[in-house]
Amino acid sequence: MTHNEHDISRRQFLRKLGLGSASALSLMAMGPLQGLAAERKSSPAAAESDIKMTYRVQNGSGEKISLLGYGMMRLPREQEEVNRLIDYAIAHGVNYFDTAPMYAGGRNEGQTGAALSRYPREKYYVATKMSNQNPQTWPLEKSKEMYENSFKQLRVDYIDYYLLHSIGGGGMDALRGRFLDNGLLDFLLKEREAKRIRHLGFSYHGDVKVFDYLLDHNDEYHWDFVQIQMNYVDWRHAGRGRRRADADAEYLYGRLEKLGIQAVIMEPIRGGGLANVADEIREQLQAVRPDDSPATWGFRWVGSFPNVLTALSGMNRMEHLEENVQTFSPLQPCTEAENELLARIADQMAGFPTIGCTTCAYCMPCPYGVDIPGNFAFYNEAVTAKMLPLPAPTASDYAERQEAFIKAYREKIPPEKRATTCTDCGQCLSKCPQQIRIPNQMSRIVELTRKRRR
Ligand code: SF4
Ligand code: SF4
Repeated sequence: MTHNEHDISRRQFLRKLGLGSASALSLMAMGPLQGLAAERKSSPAAAESDIKMTYRVQNGSGEKISLLGYGMMRLPREQEEVNRLIDYAIAHGVNYFDTAPMYAGGRNEGQTGAALSRYPREKYYVATKMSNQNPQTWPLEKSKEMYENSFKQLRVDYIDYYLLHSIGGGGMDALRGRFLDNGLLDFLLKEREAKRIRHLGFSYHGDVKVFDYLLDHNDEYHWDFVQIQMNYVDWRHAGRGRRRADADAEYLYGRLEKLGIQAVIMEPIRGGGLANVADEIREQLQAVRPDDSPATWGFRWVGSFPNVLTALSGMNRMEHLEENVQTFSPLQPCTEAENELLARIADQMAGFPTIGCTTCAYCMPCPYGVDIPGNFAFYNEAVTAKMLPLPAPTASDYAERQEAFIKAYREKIPPEKRATTCTDCGQCLSKCPQQIRIPNQMSRIVELTRKRRR
């Protein structure tokens, strides 16, 4: 299955509804990167000499890093399935694997370690993070426990790429509390000197003052890499729909490039939003490259930047992995005309009323039971499928859309997880790296499911 098959047009959506509620339910239950097809057998592994993966050289160490990096956050639960994915990735030249203590309720590092430790240590580079976002973990000893546990979970005695996780959320106060005042950053710098950490960097979301502060002090910290969110929409439209002004990827990438710090890219297809595009966008892309999926366009755009060390993709299904391996083996950089097309498309997409949720689930659990990423994924699918009952050409079109929207919403989201159960408590707000005004967006969904205009 290709990413094209994840794209759900309104026509397809309504047809699914016509076929029966079970079909519609299962269709809408899928997140943007999840698929509908049954499992299929993966293609056989490539022989070493057949590997066509594009690599980038890490400044300083000379390490050859695959331009396609494996974001482990959305791995399946079963270890056997994880191993199968990792085996395919390694056999096809992927060698960068990114995890964190907080992913998958704390299971993700262990799953990653179990899969990778079946290989010689020099065969892979593993990245993990200091996920001490919770103030209870700010005391130095607590953070050190998390750090030491990463070695155990990953079954390694050194970590290739270590990141200060999700810097920027909570602004300068959080940076001071998490890393500066408690001496943790000094400790990590010493760990790099001792070579238990080979490369030290940070992942950035949120308040650009923090990004600038850390780079302004680069003479002191000597960042080896920095992880940023970058894709052809966020290049110039990153701040849309967020609680506070965020920096565009163009600014972030530009600053890193000037300093000679390589960028690791997260969300190259915006949590799947650039794989699951509206029909009119897909048609524009297919007119130029008929065989390429929208996801392939997103990856090619990101991979075309020379200062990108690797682009992370959260591949939880074999078909995503196969397609992405193909895209990067070798990468065909975007031409100038293609870049211009994507810039025009980004302008169009910035006008769509989607919610910039990447379904990362950092905001979960909601103490009142709201399935936050589930509600937003549903809403975004509805926008893409032109089912959203926003101003429509005619009143009857509006009514048709609203009916489909409400029906699908009720089938997809159980009552206790719906937007109506949001109490506006605000506990999720500081956890969202995308700075989404979560309770406000929940209110919008409630409105859409209640109003009936004719
Ligand atoms: S604001 Fe709403 S969605 Fe967020 S944690 Fe509170 S109840 Fe849950
Ligand atoms: S609302 Fe924010 S934190 Fe929650 S899943 Fe979406 S992007 Fe992640």
